[in-house]
Amino acid sequence: MELRIVGCTGSMSGPHSSASCYLVRARGMDPVTGVVRWWNLALDLGPGSFGQLWRHIDPVDLDAVVFSHCHADHMADVISLHVHRRWGPAKGRAPIVVAGPAGTIDRIRDIDGCGPGEDYAGEFRVQELIAGQNVQIGPLSLVPSPAWHSVPAFGVRISGPDEADPFRTVTLFYTGDTDECDTILEGARGVDLLLTEVGFTRADTARGIHMDGERAGRLATRAEVSAVVATHIQPWTPVEVALEEVRRTWSGPLVAAQAGQCFTVGRSFGRSLRHGRAGATPQLSELRVPVGTIPRDVSAQAGDELAGGVLVP
Ligand SMILES: [Zn+2]
Ligand SMILES: [Zn+2]
Repeated sequence: MELRIVGCTGSMSGPHSSASCYLVRARGMDPVTGVVRWWNLALDLGPGSFGQLWRHIDPVDLDAVVFSHCHADHMADVISLHVHRRWGPAKGRAPIVVAGPAGTIDRIRDIDGCGPGEDYAGEFRVQELIAGQNVQIGPLSLVPSPAWHSVPAFGVRISGPDEADPFRTVTLFYTGDTDECDTILEGARGVDLLLTEVGFTRADTARGIHMDGERAGRLATRAEVSAVVATHIQPWTPVEVALEEVRRTWSGPLVAAQAGQCFTVGRSFGRSLRHGRAGATPQLSELRVPVGTIPRDVSAQAGDELAGGVLVP
């Protein structure tokens, strides 16, 4: 199972990345064809992210989209997905799973400017996320955990096959937007990779919306995860500030999400982090490594795109 950062800017699109979207991929048997293939799941589809998805896969090949919640910064590009599937290259394809909290289809209609007569049945199989109830997308098993946010929201635990050994299962937890809470802690317990929001800094005192870095780091430590990718950092927050806060409460592997990164879940960042299009992974010898920016647990960076100094130990 691999995780690709399609978009990671917090609360909106930003100068270096679209808003939230994460592509989770794993190889598994297609029951229709009997052939093993890549399965593609998008977690959230924030503004600008559908276009960026093209950098990783042909969107025709999407199998499912799961919305952590219905804030626009996590789902507004559903209109692009819809146009692509109704009138674009995915026209005529079977509907894909679109899952989210109760009321997701109403929210899609709102964004799309459509009334209740629009059911999207030709393009989407809209499904409600329910806490603790498994959603199966090919070899990927998703279990939602309620989040603490300003609207109904979920974190999602995803289990899938290890890239190196398909008989072994690796795990990932995506917090979506949430403040620190027990249900998110339980969902994240023991995962190989925690993709956690750091929407706030210590300067933000409101509760029940986002975590600052200290709370995100404490979540990682209490859940005993193996590695942390910090995301949803707002574009006006220096990444170093967010990571320094996480470092107060988390001492394990840590990296800030950047658009284009790919992680092989279950491997150390040093062995898994790479940059590029799916199926066209650059060799280490092809990567330019900026002097002085190599962190303890990240051995390779892809030159200019990662030269912002956001990878830290
Ligand atoms: Zn958000
Ligand atoms: Zn939100």
